[in-house]
Amino acid sequence: MLCLGIESTAHTFACSVVKYSDSDTDKSPNILSDVRNIFKAPDGSGIHPREAARHHSSVAIEVLKQSLESSKIKYKDLDVVAYSAGPGLGPCLRIGAVIARSISSFYDIKLVPVNHALGHIELGMSLTGGKDSLVLLVSGGHTMILVFNHKRWRVIGETLDITLGQLLDQFGRHLGLASPCGSEIERLANKSSKNYVSLPYSIKGNDITFSGILSAAKRLISTGKYTNEDICYSIQETAFAIITEAVERALSATEKRELLVVGGVSANKDLSRMLNLACRRHKAKFNPCPISFAGDNGVQIAWTGILSYLKTKNFIDISESFVNQSWRIDTVDVLWRE
Ligand code: AMP
Ligand code: MG
Repeated sequence: MLCLGIESTAHTFACSVVKYSDSDTDKSPNILSDVRNIFKAPDGSGIHPREAARHHSSVAIEVLKQSLESSKIKYKDLDVVAYSAGPGLGPCLRIGAVIARSISSFYDIKLVPVNHALGHIELGMSLTGGKDSLVLLVSGGHTMILVFNHKRWRVIGETLDITLGQLLDQFGRHLGLASPCGSEIERLANKSSKNYVSLPYSIKGNDITFSGILSAAKRLISTGKYTNEDICYSIQETAFAIITEAVERALSATEKRELLVVGGVSANKDLSRMLNLACRRHKAKFNPCPISFAGDNGVQIAWTGILSYLKTKNFIDISESFVNQSWRIDTVDVLWRE
């Protein structure tokens, strides 16, 4: 079975072809191609949905072409075309959906909508060999702690305001950096003299808030008393400690023995170090998603499209196809997972 996955929820337009054979015993993706093109906003600016969508429409054909060419398959060989149907930025989602619908109707290929957050998790579970993981999803669009129960990923903790990725990106933009800023903030934090400056620490049960950190950090920068490096270091220390505390509470309550971490922010080494220590304290296995698949990609959509189609044989007619900017993962039935 061959599936083309199309990702276009935010900054990344990506296409991937993934192959699945019934004889695959390890049930992990056989990735034939993985092509991505990322929208770069001007320094100091965020992702403007219309500009990102314009980027996606201008690169889409080339990304698609490269993806098919490097996988050495033709459109007519595809069984399924899966697309990211949400959550995400409306104008960006619509570009991916239009391309998926066109391929589906022209070549008569099954069309499968995929929840983007589910894509992060299902690919992460396959790549790390996870069986019964507590999941931390930390990205530009999500900050959630989840467990699987009764055929759905249930959210047992989440941000009440901005996501961890938004905290890093919005502060980075305040410094005039190009978005996404997470890796540059990590670099600045590593260069700091580790003078920790106290920032608001807010956790309510397993729920967390980050906007207080953002406002306080901006205020501190405007005083001119602190270096950018020390504020970046302090933001990371505070925000990652909050996340780690929420994860520890969840590990303790659920008694899970594995932690899967997915989403772009999981590329951060300091966050990994803190979560790894928390896992050791709870005798849980630390399963970070491989860095090359931590951020948005087409493989996560193709792989989840395969799992979904294999189990349900469900696909949608073009007239029923949709995008949903705020499609929550905990409304999606995951019938293939025990
Ligand atoms: P995603 O939405 O999954 O593609 O993740 C994008 C988010 O990951 C953005 O907010 C980035 O700033 C963030 N990110 C990427 N690399 C890093 C890093 N090394 N440290 C922290 N955040 C990162
Ligand atoms: Mg994402």
